[in-house]
Amino acid sequence: MPEGPEIRKAADKVEKAICAYPTEEIYFAFPHLKHYQEELKGCEVIAVETRGKAMLIHFENELSIYSHNQLYGRWQVRAAYSYPKTGRQLRLAIHNQKKSALLYSASDIEVLTREEIATHHFLAKLGPDVLAVKPAQVLSQLKSDKFRRRQLVSLYLDQHFLAGVGNYLRSEILFVAGINPRLRPLDLEDEQLAVLAEAAVFTSRQSYRHNGITNDLELARQLKAEGYTRGQYRHWVFGRDGRPCYECDSLIEKDYASSRRFYYCPVCQSCD
Ligand SMILES: [Zn+2]
Repeated sequence: MPEGPEIRKAADKVEKAICAYPTEEIYFAFPHLKHYQEELKGCEVIAVETRGKAMLIHFENELSIYSHNQLYGRWQVRAAYSYPKTGRQLRLAIHNQKKSALLYSASDIEVLTREEIATHHFLAKLGPDVLAVKPAQVLSQLKSDKFRRRQLVSLYLDQHFLAGVGNYLRSEILFVAGINPRLRPLDLEDEQLAVLAEAAVFTSRQSYRHNGITNDLELARQLKAEGYTRGQYRHWVFGRDGRPCYECDSLIEKDYASSRRFYYCPVCQSCD
């Protein structure tokens, strides 16, 4: 599933395409949304917001389109009314005189008023967005009674704790912080908690700015120049089980929590 940085990159493309000109036409595949086609025609898009893995397209008339791509949804931005060859189902299209933003395969699409956004079953419960949050806010989440007794490995996938962190970011943040995934916030010293909060913010923003790379950027550049594939140089530990740690040469290990895989270095992230 795309994580916060990938959703924000997609939102940037959509925003650039549909904010520049008034909407000429909108298409909804779902019958219960069809009546909004007329209502949103000619409306300007004022912003495309992301909250974790959800996207909100805000129109000038107080309505917003909410979408969550789950596993299968994909955005495509094309020249106006040109469609890609694909077997996927078109679920939403926003056309203006220059561009079309097309959402394929997503099933989680709604049209909401500003009041409905505030009480939405998914949005209202989300934690702070990992691309917008400050380290001090992450720190107060880690120290809160609600979260301090949970294992980090489960906490860092919980969208109520931090919105937008998914499977690769979870492993990478914990490696960057040098903290074992099975520990809980209450097992850590204040200094370690501060490092962990900083790592969540730093790693997610680097991934957003640098095409999903969470590894050290200079190291990733060198590895790429030496012929390593993107799968090998992109991350510190994610997807690298059985390969040597870039910091200490120990072999990276893979484990599971609630059937979701995670990766760590047993030496850089020992429990001591
Ligand atoms: Zn290591």
